Amino acid sequence: MKYKKGHFYIENVSAERIAKKFGTPVYVYSYEKIISNIYNFQKNFKTINPLICFSVKSNSNLQILNLISKLGLGADVVSKGELVRALNAKIKPEKIVFSGVGKTIEELKFAISKNILLINTESENEIVEIEKIARKSKKKINIGIRFNPDTDAKTLKNISTGKRENKFGLTKEKFLYLLKKYKNSKFVNIDCLSVHIGSQITSHVPYKNMLNAVNKIIQNSKYKFKYIDLGGGMGINYENNSHKLNYYKYKNLIKSFLKKNNSKIIFEPGRSIIGNAGYLISKIIYIKHTKSKNFVILDSAMNDLIRPALYGAKHRIIPSKLNNKKIKKKHEFVGPICETTDKFLSVDRYQKINQRDIVLICDVGAYGMVLSSNYNLRPKPPEILINKSSAKIITKRQKLNNII
Ligand SMILES: *Cc1c(COP(=O)(O)O)cnc(C)c1O
Repeated sequence: MKYKKGHFYIENVSAERIAKKFGTPVYVYSYEKIISNIYNFQKNFKTINPLICFSVKSNSNLQILNLISKLGLGADVVSKGELVRALNAKIKPEKIVFSGVGKTIEELKFAISKNILLINTESENEIVEIEKIARKSKKKINIGIRFNPDTDAKTLKNISTGKRENKFGLTKEKFLYLLKKYKNSKFVNIDCLSVHIGSQITSHVPYKNMLNAVNKIIQNSKYKFKYIDLGGGMGINYENNSHKLNYYKYKNLIKSFLKKNNSKIIFEPGRSIIGNAGYLISKIIYIKHTKSKNFVILDSAMNDLIRPALYGAKHRIIPSKLNNKKIKKKHEFVGPICETTDKFLSVDRYQKINQRDIVLICDVGAYGMVLSSNYNLRPKPPEILINKSSAKIITKRQKLNNII
């Protein structure tokens, strides 16, 4: 993915060609990038030999899950819908973990009927319900218990999950209490301790604090867990020169953790696998010049990509075609939706751009299309998978007729 003679290419297909052929806005993913992200992830943690369960909520496109499944990864799901989708992609049940604070009885029954690897529970109520289902179906269910290590992930506030005030997981006291109460249960095997402290974590230090807290609670409990599920959260480079997680350091922290605790490690990466493999290609509808800035009004909006509006996330926006004309004026890239937060990015200067030019919003492979909506009755964009010179539609553009 780079500029060739001033034109931006995703593998062998130019952004302009994609825009022309499929219309805009359009999500595009690079097949090769997904594969290399997976290989790199596996390589970084090779000496730990973890089970890697792709976080389906980050991107649940069936064709992408098919590819992930073919490469042997498992799945981390958070709803019945995601579980069904993962099974449809032929991800093996023994590689699927089910997370989430509010699984319904129906969802639990369904997951139990599919014999998945683990249900990672987050409350005593949930364990009680699982025991009831187990008793009825004469099964013993493998569960994990999610620990809230009260660790600051040092990421955006709204994607932080491992602090005491967050709804996720159980405090140390409650965790130890539940472990004691249920470790000899006839209906559940407590196989796993799970943690997930947040997303877009760019320093190994929060992980270090997390591992220390996990180590402490295990020593405290004197219990041997078959699995330690460390969740996901590995951060990627959204902005030029920004930080990215040092995998080498994180791996070494886990290695020394494993010297004290001999368990199988599970990871649940989402963003680090798919985040930088996707673009949202958009067309400039209008440019509105004001004294202080130029509003660049795109044909994509917060209904297509909500991360900037929802979390204040920053995604680079690059032109499909380079020129050497720099304009020293503030440019604010916005969508057409009637909300002030329908704003993607503000930059101090940009190259000269015109109405109908094509731009690419970068690194939108994770939490992009999955969070899209029909707000303002806008149809959802299509998704295209690029593999070398081929461009295949993997989700069709929604038809206006089907939503009105
Ligand atoms: C969202 C989520 C993940 C994935 O997080 P990334 O930051 O995309 O790697 C993993 N585990 C759980 C429990 C999650 O909720």
